[in-house]
Amino acid sequence: MAMIECSECGNDVSDKAGSCPNCGAPVRDSGGDTQTIEETSKTWKSHQLFGGLATVVGFVGAMTLGGGLSSGGGASAMIFGAIGFVGIFWFLGARLMAWWHHG
Ligand SMILES: [Zn+2]
Repeated sequence: MAMIECSECGNDVSDKAGSCPNCGAPVRDSGGDTQTIEETSKTWKSHQLFGGLATVVGFVGAMTLGGGLSSGGGASAMIFGAIGFVGIFWFLGARLMAWWHHG
C-alpha cells in the first residue's frame, strides 16, 4: 500500500482510499494514470506504424504489379491494392483512437 499526496490539501492519503480523509477530495493516483496513457499512446502509435506500412506496401505492390491502379492489374495487384486500402483505414483508425484517448 502506497501513500500519495492529496492534490487538494497535500495530506498523505492511502492509494486504496477513494477520497482524502482530511478534505474529502477524490484521490487519483496521477502516476498510474500517466503510465496508462503512455502505454495506450505506444499501442496506437505502433498501430499507426503498421497501418502506414501496410498502406505503403499495398500501394507500391499494386503499382508495381498492376502498372498503375487505373489499368486494372492482375489478381496480385488487386490483393496489394486491398492491403493498401485496409492500411489507410487502419492508420486513420489508429489516429482516431489516439485522439479519442488523449483528446
Ligand atoms: Zn485532501
